[in-house]
Formats: sequence, C-alpha cells, structure tokens
Amino acid sequence: MRSMVQWVLGLLVIAWVPPVQAQPGGWKAGVARAVATPKTSVWLAGYGTKRPPDGKLHDLWIKALALEDPQGKRAVLITSDFQGVPKEMSDRVFAQLKSKYQLERDQIMITFSHNHCGPRLGLDLVDYYPIEDEQVRLVDEYTSEMVERLVAVVGESLQKLAPATLDQGEGKATFAVNRRDNREAEVPDLIARKIPLKGVVDHSVPVLRVTGANGQIVAILFGYACHPTTLSFTTWCGDYPGFAQLLIEKNHPGAQAMFVNTCGGDQNPLPRRTVELCEDYGRQLAEGVEHALKQPMKPVSAKLRTAFRYVDLAYDHVMTRKELETFSRDANAIRQRWAVRMLKKLDGGEKFSSTYPYPLHAWRLGNEMLVVGMGAETVVDYALRFKREFGPGTWVCGYADDMISYIPSRRVWEEGGYEGGSNLFEYGRPALRWAGDIEDRIAGGVGELVKEVGAASLRAGTFDPRKAEEMRRQSVQR
Ligand SMILES: [Zn+2]
Repeated sequence: MRSMVQWVLGLLVIAWVPPVQAQPGGWKAGVARAVATPKTSVWLAGYGTKRPPDGKLHDLWIKALALEDPQGKRAVLITSDFQGVPKEMSDRVFAQLKSKYQLERDQIMITFSHNHCGPRLGLDLVDYYPIEDEQVRLVDEYTSEMVERLVAVVGESLQKLAPATLDQGEGKATFAVNRRDNREAEVPDLIARKIPLKGVVDHSVPVLRVTGANGQIVAILFGYACHPTTLSFTTWCGDYPGFAQLLIEKNHPGAQAMFVNTCGGDQNPLPRRTVELCEDYGRQLAEGVEHALKQPMKPVSAKLRTAFRYVDLAYDHVMTRKELETFSRDANAIRQRWAVRMLKKLDGGEKFSSTYPYPLHAWRLGNEMLVVGMGAETVVDYALRFKREFGPGTWVCGYADDMISYIPSRRVWEEGGYEGGSNLFEYGRPALRWAGDIEDRIAGGVGELVKEVGAASLRAGTFDPRKAEEMRRQSVQR
C-alpha cells in the first residue's frame, strides 16, 4: 500500500501539465484603426474662432493597440488625431468598454494628439466658439459617432490579439521650441544665426516596436512633446504627427504607426504655418523613429501591470456669482460666453467643486518600460521630472482621457503666463487658476501609482512616501 505522501505526489504528477510552448516574446498584441474624418461641416477645433472645414489633406484616424501578457492581463492604448477629448465623452467610452469587454479604467488609455486641424468634440473648449444651433447639433452627432467608433476599434484590436514581441528604443527630433521662452517672430532669425533657443524642451522620440510571430512589424508607437499647431488653416489633416504616421506606414507596409503627444503643453513647432514646414516636421519625426528602429532595441519582457487613479487638483479660487456677473460683460468674447454659461449653471442649482478629478495612469511593461499617462496639456517639466525619477524606459504621455486645461508645473505656475496663469476659463472650469500645489499633488499620485505597478526598480524614485500617502488620502477613486 502506498503511503499518503506517495499518493499525494502521484496526484501532483498527474496534475502537472507541461507548460504551453512559450510564444515568441510572450506577448499578444492586436491593432485596429478607423477613419475619424468628419463627413459633416463640424468646425475645426482649437483656435478660438469659427472654422468650417474646406476639405482634407489626408484622413484623421483613431487607432488602438491591445496588449496581453501570458497571464491574460490586458490593456488597450488608443491614439487619435483629435484636438481634445472631454471627460463627458471619454467616460461614455470607458462605460461601454467595461460592459462590453470587461475593461476596467486602469486598462484603457484614450490619448489625443491635440491636433489643431482636428474637429470639435463635445464640450471641449465650448466657450471658444460662437453659439450656432446647427453647429451644436453637428458636434453632438459627431461626438456620439466617435464614441461608438472608439469602442468598435478597441473591440477589433482585442479580437486580433496574436503572439508578438515588443522592443523599445529612442530617437530624436529637434523642431519643438519652448514657446514661453522664445518669441515666435524671432525664432527663424535665431535659427538662421545658429543662436541657441531658450527654455526647457524634450526632444526625445520614444519608440515601441510590436512585431508579429512572422517577423512582420504590427505597430510602431512613438511619442514627441510638441503642439500639433504647425497649421491653422481649415483643412482636415493630422498636422505634423499625421504626416509622420503616414511616412512611417509608407516605410513599413502593414505596420500601424501610432503617435502620443508626450508633454508638449508649452512646446510649439516653430517656425510654422505652411504645409511644407508641417510635412518637414513630420519627416524629421519619422526620421527620429527610423533611427531608433535601426539601433539595437531593448526587448520588453512579457508582464503587464496597470494602475489608475484620480487625483483632486485644487483651484486657487472658485468663482463667485458676483465675479461671474462682472465677467459676463467682459470684452473678451470667450470669457464673456464662459461667465454667462457658468451663471446658468448656478441658476440651475449647481454648486461648483473646489477641485477637479485629474486622471493618472501607470502601465508597467516588463521590467523595462513604464508608461505614465497624464490628463490634459502637461508642460514638459513633468516628462523631464518623471523620466529622471523613474529612469530609462519611462514614457510620460500627456493628453490622456480628458482635455481639462493646461497643467503647469510649479515652476510654470510661479512664472504665470498663458500655461501657468489665469486661463482656466478658456476650458470651462469654474475658476481662473490652479492652486500652487498642483505639481505636488500630481507627483504624489504618480509616485503611488508607480509603486502600485512595482516599477520603482526601473530606478528608485525620489518621491516622498509620507507625502504621497497624504496625497493618496486626498485623492478619491471615482
Ligand atoms: Zn494646447
């Protein structure tokens, strides 16, 4: 008679199943895309005027990259040629993705390039534009259509999940200029005279290559920190990221090129305003990507961890009815429309919150890559800071999930000016300015998320755990 130990061992042997043959790279990846170019005359977004479209240079796109690790953990990154996706729109997408595909908020990031040759969406920058009933209807219709399309593209990317390898590298492109520290009119002359431009920039071009089991490149994801504001005309196109994606897809037939705006809130492509310059910046960016692809790239091991939270960003001072009444007679048309709209909200019984829920993501890919996703128009300081704190392999993507406003660092907040000063009315917030602790609140949230995904090993971070804990208590999961 066998002993109990032998019996248990026997069971274990029966229960042991040889591991499934390791897939190439261990990852699964799937991509999908859909055209987003409006068919109606919804206006172009972003310059504070009425801009009906007059045709297109090339199509606008929504693109998705789905990733799955060997444990079945999934995440989907959406990139798009949109100018700004407002919260009320992305929340509709998140709700549908949860019910249709069981994707939680930490597993999905909706990014937009901030392309100023892209269409209006929902209430994004709504006070920027004169009110015309027909336009309100067109924007509503187009927004709903895009919600459905985003959900469909994510579904398709999940369906297409197939074995893949991931590698990352970095290139460089130098056309982004710190627009706070250089006068636009002087830039061409300074460049011609080889006088260095002023201010902080992030000229790195992070690249992630996704290769299928047959060796075919499936996706090339790349980033750059700069406003897609080369052009200000009324013709649909993706501005410099649109041209860069087209060129990369031409260089790599069958691959889907995808662009994320890293932290380009205070960066402009200068000089600008001609299609030739726009195409040239696209070419420079594509060359940065090609350079990275030609170097030995770093394989990304197949393990995925994701985390998400809202951090409450405090306003400096919430508007009172009296202040809004004064602004409702303002000579500035945007501020006047904003004040009137805010007063209507107060009349309807709405109480303004003293904070705004700011979305933050951390995705850890293997031990080699950390993606920090940040809402809105983050200035370049954030990318430089988090890359320094979390080390090589860190991507810091702005323009995720919600357009909100500019997100100044403490430095930019102290300096004031367009990105750091009293401009929140342009974005429809019930205040003029963020409180001065904005960077601390964000850094606290990011530090916590990075801990959650266990990415501190990229390099030990310098965040203060006590401070981060305090921030965590202040932040509310919504
Ligand atoms: Zn902007």
